[in-house]
Amino acid sequence: MAGGPLAERSRAQVAQDVKGLGGIGLATVQVGEDPASTVYIRRKHEAAGEAVIASTDLKLPEDITQEELDEAQAVLAIDPVKDVDGVHPFNAGQLYLGRPTLVPATPLGIMALLEEYQIGLSGTRAVVIGRSDIVGKPIAHLLLQANATVTICHSHTADLERHTLDADVLVVAAGLPGIVSPDMVKSGGAVIDVGINSTEAGLVGDVDPGAAAVAHFLTPVPGGVGPMTIAMVLANTVRAARYRRGLLAFPKSER
Ligand code: NDP
Repeated sequence: MAGGPLAERSRAQVAQDVKGLGGIGLATVQVGEDPASTVYIRRKHEAAGEAVIASTDLKLPEDITQEELDEAQAVLAIDPVKDVDGVHPFNAGQLYLGRPTLVPATPLGIMALLEEYQIGLSGTRAVVIGRSDIVGKPIAHLLLQANATVTICHSHTADLERHTLDADVLVVAAGLPGIVSPDMVKSGGAVIDVGINSTEAGLVGDVDPGAAAVAHFLTPVPGGVGPMTIAMVLANTVRAARYRRGLLAFPKSER
């Protein structure tokens, strides 16, 4: 269940859309020099360049003070209509209400992969490991909206295996290599491995690759969800440009 070919098609569509829109831009803000974030941001800029999206990379020092950069305040400072990572409370609230506007890129990429591989969701049992604002919570909402019955697991979940073994669709976003072993996967299920962990053996996901022998689908790491995330950031950039230009209606937000 590779993400590369679909991501490439999606990026080609973005490049096409950008031509129709004229100049559009993408800005990233990075605090410090976390190597994984640096790579991710570099890829966003490379992909933006290929799609002829003008991109700006703003770097803030690691030692910036809380007063200068409070995460919650920084998120509130983003204009919701330009919020291509879908982190502003307005966009998060829209998703919660079942009226998605700008949705975080990784969950969008996962949903696109599930559709591409024709994995039906209505009536299935979906289990999400992880409850972050950019992966776990938003993918749980999207799966719920697709009429799956959704369970969210986290670090306090007792007997994780009891939940995972029941999952027709299992999304793993914990950031812990091997947290899901082959014996924790339902036979014939679809497993989406979101994890990206840098180990001595290179980049690995959260799911033991041996799970491929049990699951019907397993996304590889690297080359699964990662390329889709980049593609969806660009797709969101196009979406935001359409909102800004009135080509799509953005709900009025009170800020
Ligand atoms: P966070 O660290 O924000 O969240 C991790 C989540 O995993 C938390 O909700 C945590 O629970 C849960 N968790 C931790 N330990 C356990 C456990 N033993 N059992 C069950 N749940 C547990 O991570 P992110 O959501 O930002 O990212 C998750 C992973 O996905 C990382 O490896 C990250 O690098 C990767 N990632 C990959 C992307 C891609 O494009 N492929 C994009 C974004 C992230 P609790 O809330 O209780 O602490």
